Amino acid sequence: MDYLPIFMRLDSRPVVVVGGGAVALRKVRWLLKAGARVTVVAPVLHLELAAQAARGEISHVEAEFSPTHLANAIAVVAATDDRATNAAVSFAARENRIPVNAVDDAELSTFISPAIIDRSPIVVAVSSAGDAPVLARWVREQIEALLPARLGTLARFMGARRRVVQRALGQLARRAFWERIAAGPVARYVLGGDEPAAEHALLRELASSQLRAASPVAGGSVGEVYLIGAGPGDADLLTLRALQLLQQADVILYDRLVSREVLERARRDAELIFVGKESREHDQQERIHELLVRLAREGKRVARLKGGDPFVFGRGGEEIEVLAAHAVPYTVVPGITAALGAAASARLPLTHRRLAHSVTFVNGHQGEHASPDWRFFADPRHTVVFYMAVARLPAIVARLRAAGAAAEHPVALIAHATLPQQRILRGSLADIAALAARERITPPALLIAGEVAAFAASDALAELAASPAAAEALA
Ligand code: SAH
Repeated sequence: MDYLPIFMRLDSRPVVVVGGGAVALRKVRWLLKAGARVTVVAPVLHLELAAQAARGEISHVEAEFSPTHLANAIAVVAATDDRATNAAVSFAARENRIPVNAVDDAELSTFISPAIIDRSPIVVAVSSAGDAPVLARWVREQIEALLPARLGTLARFMGARRRVVQRALGQLARRAFWERIAAGPVARYVLGGDEPAAEHALLRELASSQLRAASPVAGGSVGEVYLIGAGPGDADLLTLRALQLLQQADVILYDRLVSREVLERARRDAELIFVGKESREHDQQERIHELLVRLAREGKRVARLKGGDPFVFGRGGEEIEVLAAHAVPYTVVPGITAALGAAASARLPLTHRRLAHSVTFVNGHQGEHASPDWRFFADPRHTVVFYMAVARLPAIVARLRAAGAAAEHPVALIAHATLPQQRILRGSLADIAALAARERITPPALLIAGEVAAFAASDALAELAASPAAAEALA
């Protein structure tokens, strides 16, 4: 290890930055965040630094660098674009035993500034000892994605309750307790922004920890369920929170619509259980409810992964009713619903200032007695997205026509949206059923009806590529 990572308290301590450009500005921002009293030495200042100086947030010494500027400083940053100046700063600092960082120059530095992930009070610093700053930043981005945005809030939440827990539990029990807090429902609630629920869950956990400490045979703690929207298929369309929870789940219950790519993002040793609904639809949903409750009661962290969004034709509502009734803690993570994935892939806006001002998601499978307002759906200036549309396509077309839609009412049928086997068919009510049959479209697919279905942004690049002159130029 070339450098020892340490965290330095700068609160109100004087730090000198030599240089007044954009690089200096970046360094000054971090120093101010850490509470340092910053003096910038430079003949001219970047506009924003000048504004900070005017507001009294930093001091400005309008001069070329001289070693006398370092009196009192507890650290120095050389941030000019002139290596000779940076070298002079470094030399003077080392003479005076003041830690110095020359930006992007490990040789002139006695300390280096890492790439930072700031979830204060949790801070992660990444360094490549100056060998590969780009790689260090890449590592930082990977970690950024893994760490929940409210991690700092969680740290403060836990910090504020240390005393109470200290009084309630012995040392051994305490550690196990905090581990359960960090990996369980309490953390989930704080990270999801619901502190009252977190408080409640913490007290419950504390009570059960006290019981367990008194009688070690008492039952383990309840697990929890994450109801996660897996998005339309492309694994890159998972949300960061979905990814974070997939890394934690002990068991994953998944549907037929969840792609293999998505499952590959789960924790390697998680148990995968397929619960896709085949023919015995009713029984299967009951079985899922039982499984969710049983696994959570065994203390497991259970991810219930559903295609798209759990609350859009996903029966997520029924599942949380069951979980709530059995007092199983749960979290819902939204996913990109198929309509949004398909619209983006087909470059087809669901609303558009000129074409449509509203959009409805409809279950294409609904029974004949369900009677939403089909006259409204038949209006081409309203966008309708029919889910579960393949088998019922002729029936949907017939109903729209009966409600007054024209034969040339634009529609688009999009199958396997966002996946490599994606298919997009555009047409009208007159021809879409025949087109779908001819092209052997298979589920999952959805039908988008309305003016927007005929939308095509004219593609200047494609036109250029198609023109004879461009073809010649490319040859
Ligand atoms: N909860 C899901 C919908 C489940 S209902 C969501 O929010 O997307 C299943 C229907 O969703 C399918 O019949 C199909 O109409 C649609 N669907 C799901 N994934 C799709 C995809 N990748 N491409 C097109 N349609 C899809």
